[in-house]
Amino acid sequence: MTQHQSGPRPVRAARGTTLSTQGWQQEAALRMLMNNLDPEVAEHPDKLVVYGGTGKAARDWRSFDAMVRTLQTLKQDETMLVQSGRPVGVMQTHEWAPRVLLANSNLVGDWANWEEFRRLEHLGLTMYGQMTAGSWIYIGTQGILQGTYETFAAVAAKKFNGTLAGTITLTAGLGGMGGAQPLAVTMNDGVAICIDCDQTRIDRRIEHRYLDVEAKNLKHALELAVEARDQRRPLSIGLLGNAAELVPQLLAMDAPIDIVTDQTSAHDPLAYLPIGVDFHDMANYAAEKPAEFTTRAREAMAKHVEAMVGFQDKGAEVFDYGNSIRGEAQLAGYTRAFDFPGFVPAYIRPLFCEGKGPFRWAALSGDPKDIAATDKAVLDLFPENESLARWMKMAGERVHFQGLPARICWLGYGERDKAGERFNEMVADGTVSAPLVIGRDHLDCGSVASPYRETEAMLDGSDAIADWPLLNAMVNVASGASWVSIHHGGGVGIGRSIHAGQVTVADGTKLAGEKIRRVLTNDPGMGVIRHVDAGYDRAVEVADERGVRIPMREG
Ligand code: NAD
Repeated sequence: MTQHQSGPRPVRAARGTTLSTQGWQQEAALRMLMNNLDPEVAEHPDKLVVYGGTGKAARDWRSFDAMVRTLQTLKQDETMLVQSGRPVGVMQTHEWAPRVLLANSNLVGDWANWEEFRRLEHLGLTMYGQMTAGSWIYIGTQGILQGTYETFAAVAAKKFNGTLAGTITLTAGLGGMGGAQPLAVTMNDGVAICIDCDQTRIDRRIEHRYLDVEAKNLKHALELAVEARDQRRPLSIGLLGNAAELVPQLLAMDAPIDIVTDQTSAHDPLAYLPIGVDFHDMANYAAEKPAEFTTRAREAMAKHVEAMVGFQDKGAEVFDYGNSIRGEAQLAGYTRAFDFPGFVPAYIRPLFCEGKGPFRWAALSGDPKDIAATDKAVLDLFPENESLARWMKMAGERVHFQGLPARICWLGYGERDKAGERFNEMVADGTVSAPLVIGRDHLDCGSVASPYRETEAMLDGSDAIADWPLLNAMVNVASGASWVSIHHGGGVGIGRSIHAGQVTVADGTKLAGEKIRRVLTNDPGMGVIRHVDAGYDRAVEVADERGVRIPMREG
């Protein structure tokens, strides 16, 4: 085990059924914390960075060691409190209470900007928790793959007769999240050109079979893309370089691009490569001259976004993929930045109205057979859902597990609780060999306030109302989740979002079954009520059909 050290070292969650803690709820938290930092899972594990720019699982190695130590002795009626990646207390609670409560990166409104955040981070007082990094339910690139697959399927349905065959998508960013883009496009039968300035990201996506080939240069990338497009053959092409330079060049060449988006780490200007900076100098430059770097990164983003708008003007389908690049470009003075929409209002909101969102689970045994058994259970539970079946089949065939085997699919209100209860029965009857951890992303229907992403352009204008994620966290605590978190700044950056997460452990006990039923009903229920409140007819229908109580519609 890892205690009494305090520097970088490889971390990997235990497998199997031997516990190093007082119970499965604590063991699950310990394994998922470690799994987030598994070198197979994390983008930069030595820096405790899991994904999403600088999204971390622990504030520093001493805090990591203290969390491990504490989880190993934590009792069934105790709760560990984590303040931005550092364990700050253990309180006596009760067996229905979460074993861990986390609050990450939260700042008071007027102070909620990157500059102040970095100052406090530098003092060792906070860390950036992103979404599932600081809440210990990141499962590698698969997590985003499902959402990205759904989004591109929605683009295909909206504009290309239901398939991306014969189209070329241009995007950038092949990091922890962005790395899902090439596979999501080819799963929809399209061609993708994916730019990244970091060769290791391109290599990693090829190694994991998320990306098919790497082009030698821009011209080569276009040749490969056009050839595959003409044959209606799916193909994803990696291209090394700076998107702020290459996207405008492609526009100037009049490249035949049908769809444009982006998933560079634009939410954090210190993680976006400015024009004229060598990638290998980027980290030092950002650390040494953050203000100058930020200005140059924003200027580069303005060029990038201007070219995206240029593609839209030429008829391409263009959308912001939730990284705040429009906001950053606007800060650099580019006035047309918001000419293209965010992906949530464009494609995802109708799903949110049904309480749908990225439901995910991981097998604590470490045995892929356990996930195969759960895949089958989900297909048996929802036989009428064709798109779910298509996804589960492709995921089973094509998804390379990173760290503990895991699965994700989008399920809504009235579905997640069924799946969760079934999983708990499977643990109880030995169909799977160890408990399962059930959680979700924070990119979700009812647990996020994020005006550039999840709550962009809400019908009633309530985009920035952040009571909803707080209510979500409280209801998950009250319902029996195993760990619950409240974060600020995930996805789109400091000052731009507040969101909550929950993870619940199916350990096969009756108590776990009761908790799961409540948590996995109430958590997606927040999505339904949030959208009813904002005036979405679809959410009202779902509430009526599925019996979600809305006091303002009663009496
Ligand atoms: P990451 O830091 O792991 O990867 C970002 C990648 O962008 C890196 O590989 C980096 O080399 C590359 N990059 C930076 N500047 C570049 C430039 N100028 N040109 C080319 N490549 C450049 O981040 P991630 O986890 O992949 O997340 C990417 C973004 O997507 C973040 O802003 C994140 O908040 C956002 N995000 C979106 C969703 C969604 O559902 N749409 C979900 C989670 C995160």
